[in-house]
Amino acid sequence: MTEYETIIGLEVHVELKTKSKIFCPSSTEFGGDPNTHVCPVCLGLPGVLPVLNKKVLEYAIRAALALNCEIAEYSKFDRKNYYYPDLPKNYQISQYDLPLARNGYLNIEVNGQTKRIGITRIHMEEDAGKLIHQGTIATSPYSLVDYNRTGVPLIEIVSEPDMRSPEEARAYLEKLKTIIQYTGVSDCKMEEGSLRCDANVSVRPKGSREFGTKTEIKNMNSFKALQRALAYEVERQIAVLEEGGRIIQETRTWDESKGVTLPMRSKEEAHDYRYFPEPDLVPLIIDRRWVEEIRATLPELPDERRNRYIKRYDLPAYDATVLTATKEMADYFEECVALYPNAKAVSNWMMGDLSRLLNAHNMDITRCKVSPRQLTDMLKLMDRGTISGKIAKTVFEEMFATGKDPEQIVQEKGLVQITDEGAIAAVVEEVLAGNAKVVEDYLKGKDRAFGFLVGQVMKATRGKANPELVNRLLREKIHSQS
Ligand SMILES: [Zn+2]
Repeated sequence: MTEYETIIGLEVHVELKTKSKIFCPSSTEFGGDPNTHVCPVCLGLPGVLPVLNKKVLEYAIRAALALNCEIAEYSKFDRKNYYYPDLPKNYQISQYDLPLARNGYLNIEVNGQTKRIGITRIHMEEDAGKLIHQGTIATSPYSLVDYNRTGVPLIEIVSEPDMRSPEEARAYLEKLKTIIQYTGVSDCKMEEGSLRCDANVSVRPKGSREFGTKTEIKNMNSFKALQRALAYEVERQIAVLEEGGRIIQETRTWDESKGVTLPMRSKEEAHDYRYFPEPDLVPLIIDRRWVEEIRATLPELPDERRNRYIKRYDLPAYDATVLTATKEMADYFEECVALYPNAKAVSNWMMGDLSRLLNAHNMDITRCKVSPRQLTDMLKLMDRGTISGKIAKTVFEEMFATGKDPEQIVQEKGLVQITDEGAIAAVVEEVLAGNAKVVEDYLKGKDRAFGFLVGQVMKATRGKANPELVNRLLREKIHSQS
């Protein structure tokens, strides 16, 4: 069988979170009763004129700079002409041959390797409305249209076909989301559609220089869906080629429930849209000083922050990557470290119990009840020996659920660690007396028997005995008896 190489490029639409729409003062707020965030401009009524929202341009430049793009000195808007009921003007204002930004890149990490993925272009455009069907589009007796989203500002970020696997595509999209979130120009909520991704995918025999025929996949609403859809599509294309067939250039949709891609429509040629310059808007001549002003306000971006964590806090690369994956997570980490300098201990708790509980409750860190001060207070209780590491886990779960201070939980639940040697020694005596057979096994070399005895002492003290003391006293007593 021929070996194949996979070629993937992504087109990502990001909604910019300006207060008003791109060409009119209507609200961009998500949700709202249908057709309440509209005005004559975004409804495309006759005689109205669009006016560019300066904030949209600023946000688009901000995102483009964060993605290492060159900002065009001269760019313009164009009309992309097509009819669809969610597009009241019958054309979308977009940018065609002279986009706002070009030649950017971002870096991804795959299998411990850094790889640069090129960004061909970034342009601005307006979003379309939403059609609401009863059930599916094919069986619905009628469709409703909601124009609230019409005219919401978007940037489209087009990558180079630089990705060679579904894993790389996922890593690219995750990194793109992280960078855009850091810039603050979008909340990038895939579930609300403020980050949407289409993929172009093709395969070719390994070593070949020419691209194979590509298909475009739409409707992938999560990172997992993107990866699954691409994996399916790559296999499908290889199977077609192996059977001597050929790939049809077409748009396909990802069916999440069936786990397959299905044909939607054969690809329209670009010239079908009859692009032409938008006559109602002047071209954009962008002042270099303004671009530099925007650049100066960019925050420290994920790669820089990650590298700083490795150098300054001596964290493993993996920890640094996880902690900087969202700006909020990284801010939380730094607040903790300012209060408690053991960065690795903070990292362990954040990547361990904190992340586990956040995932289990489907929450992000902005909604976490445990403040950085509370987390670090708990670490200090451990350092002082007030609670053991094991008890800390219980305390932390309670903190996460209630938002109470760790000291209060320790008091209320009587969780103070027993460090009184006499008290522990008494329990140790009892456990040894009740488990003569186990002691014998241990003395014959069964190491696991010792663990059992430790467990019995911890159980008798409800986990509160200082573990080092338990270990030491058990060893001493056993050897003094034998
Ligand atoms: Zn409007």
